[in-house]
Amino acid sequence: MEKQIYLDNNATTQVAPEVIEAMLPFFSGQYGNPSSIHWFGGHVKKYVETAREQVAQLLGASPEEIIFTSCGSESDNLALKGFCGVHGSFSRIITSTVEHPAVRNTARYLQGRGALLTELEVDSDGNLRIDQFDSVPVDNNTIVSLMWANNETGVIFPISELAAKVKGKGGFFHTDAVQAVGKIPVDVKKVPIDMLALSGHKIHAPKGIGAIYIRKGLELEPLLHGGHQESGMRAGTENVPYIVGLGKACELALKHMDEENTRVRAMRDRLERELLKRCAGAKLNGSREMRLPNTANISFEFIEGEAILLHLDENGIAASSGSACTTGSLEPSHVMRAMGLPYTFAHSSTRFSLSRYNKEEHIDKVIEVMPGIVDKLRSLSPFVEKRNE
Ligand code: PLP
Repeated sequence: MEKQIYLDNNATTQVAPEVIEAMLPFFSGQYGNPSSIHWFGGHVKKYVETAREQVAQLLGASPEEIIFTSCGSESDNLALKGFCGVHGSFSRIITSTVEHPAVRNTARYLQGRGALLTELEVDSDGNLRIDQFDSVPVDNNTIVSLMWANNETGVIFPISELAAKVKGKGGFFHTDAVQAVGKIPVDVKKVPIDMLALSGHKIHAPKGIGAIYIRKGLELEPLLHGGHQESGMRAGTENVPYIVGLGKACELALKHMDEENTRVRAMRDRLERELLKRCAGAKLNGSREMRLPNTANISFEFIEGEAILLHLDENGIAASSGSACTTGSLEPSHVMRAMGLPYTFAHSSTRFSLSRYNKEEHIDKVIEVMPGIVDKLRSLSPFVEKRNE
């Protein structure tokens, strides 16, 4: 386990030791229900509210604008279904072809229930087609849901500019910021978004906790009906230890943001530069400039991504081919297809995603083994022979 090198942080992250430490008391002595009147309840409620402040601070929001959920997917579901619940048969949804299934499948579900759906395309670098965005009608029954950063390529959409345009036309703006939060500055005071989804396990909190920012005054229909918890937006007794863990993770993310954008970015850049130089037929996927500092997505022509992953795994290196949610299927990911990557590149897309726990020697190891893996697999590739015939 010690020798394992983890470069799959867009799939999930190691829980920070400080987060575990912050959570532990709430599994033992501090087990009260935050809604209870007695000491046990009042005591833990204070910690839930501190966590809400910590999340709000990372986003530049007010604590009342933060609702705790079980994950990023739930937050995305609440944003889209909650909006359509209020706007009924007039609902229009505008999203993109490269969204995570948490948004894409929710939007398609709502389309099946009568909402009008438009999926905007991206160019070959994964940037949103602004011409399409500008030509699509937006009214006050429209929710535009665009991801802040793509989980596969790390490509960042110009959320500030897009949200301002939507607000200017009277529409509403949701962003799936699950991959952006904690990696790049996100400030809802400066960006006119109405809703934002985030997830704990992408920022060194555990799986099973998320949050949604809902701008003050915005009306949404809850997904869960029941008790009055979370201002009536999310019934169910609060998951106190995980909420406390998410709060701590947000505090740490704010503290480590500069490191993410300097040390982690420099390691990512070195990895990318060396792989592109040393591996024949290597190609970077996604815009070079508008990208998360921790993500490198590279294709190695004629090779199957799954085979690369297995060979990396034999060398103790964990990476990913496309989104973890689609692993197991040999279809190229919907993101690579949306970017129009040729078949021989789309199949070999390999994602390396770093975190603050990575060290230079992890990058050295990948740079050392990857050219050999590529040469070996390419010599076995049936696609190469076809081309040479
Ligand atoms: N949105 C994006 C961009 C993601 O990368 C993910 C997870 O991979 C999600 C949403 C879903 O988050 P969760 O796993 O917390 O449901």
